[in-house]
Amino acid sequence: MLLAHKIELRPTPEQAIYLDKACGSKRHCYNQLLAHFSKPENKWSKTAAYQYYIKVIRQEFQWYSEVSSRVTRNAIDDLDNAFSHFFRRIKLKQKAGFPRFKKKDINDSFALRESAKFDVIGRELRLEKLKTRIEMRQSLRFQGVTKQVTISKRAGKYFASILVETEDYNPNDNDRQASVGVDFGIKELAVLSTGTVFAANQKLKANLKKLAKLQRNLAKKIKGSNHRAKAKLTVAKLHFRIAKQRQALLHELSDYLTKTFSVITIEDLNVKGMVKNRKLSRAISDAGFGYLRQMIKYKAHLRNCIIVIANRFFPSSKTCSCCGKIKENLTLADRVFNCECGFSADRDLNAALNLNKYGQDTLQPDLKCASEQSQTVDLFTASVLTV
Ligand SMILES: [Zn+2]
Repeated sequence: MLLAHKIELRPTPEQAIYLDKACGSKRHCYNQLLAHFSKPENKWSKTAAYQYYIKVIRQEFQWYSEVSSRVTRNAIDDLDNAFSHFFRRIKLKQKAGFPRFKKKDINDSFALRESAKFDVIGRELRLEKLKTRIEMRQSLRFQGVTKQVTISKRAGKYFASILVETEDYNPNDNDRQASVGVDFGIKELAVLSTGTVFAANQKLKANLKKLAKLQRNLAKKIKGSNHRAKAKLTVAKLHFRIAKQRQALLHELSDYLTKTFSVITIEDLNVKGMVKNRKLSRAISDAGFGYLRQMIKYKAHLRNCIIVIANRFFPSSKTCSCCGKIKENLTLADRVFNCECGFSADRDLNAALNLNKYGQDTLQPDLKCASEQSQTVDLFTASVLTV
């Protein structure tokens, strides 16, 4: 399976010059080709483009050789793409839109599509014709053979999108546990029906506190002042850091869930976070919950897990996971769930146990069917089951 991981780069000023040069060479070459093939006497074909590139363009612009030769070849591939779209639209009698010239700083990018032209070593990226390695903000998320790298520049920042051929998402089913229920807790990030607890990240918590303070500070500054502009930038930077921390945490949780269990039951909406408790673990509240759900869904699809999303009116917290009796007078202050039947457990663990049971009950017929024909079941439709 091919998967891409996009990582921010931390190039030195010299390395940034190389990256800019590579983007520039590709754009320049693209525009040269387009100018030539815009003339009615020159009909576009990839072979004609290649001939023109070798005999004319490359001779004229020797500075192309300062970067990997593959970079300017990209221009031919990209323009070929643009032309085939153009011809297809003409054929379909749609509004055609002739390929346009590329402008500086708008979608600047280049790609190296052969493994030998680049390398990923830990948190460093080697590119052909660049003597030093570029530092990456993270290491690759997937194990496997690197196939292609695309470098792009957005708002002054550089990113590498690395394509990896990986076995990482074909786990050995024998190692997996059958099912789990996950309660997104009030105190913790998540509590699993197995008893495993994903604690709320303390660093993240501290940063959220800091953010609130900075935002109060910002509100006091006079509009249009330099102080305000400065404070605004500080807030924006911290926002970015928090987003990254939150993302890392959610990746860790979703990775663990989809690697460890075949069936995962979660709640429909973060109802608790939305209406009942404003102090809910901020790590997943707000936009985080939707994002986490999306992450679990796509990883579940890749790893062939089944996701069960419990009905939003399912009283996961108020039901006794032992006898099934519903305790209407349970409040948010009750950290421990005590039932008349003698059952007693942590509130979030009780909810997780209920969710796990809910998933098992829901899937009873399907589980049997899925295990009988696990090879043929269409998991894209089966993996996300909303009930
Ligand atoms: Zn009970």
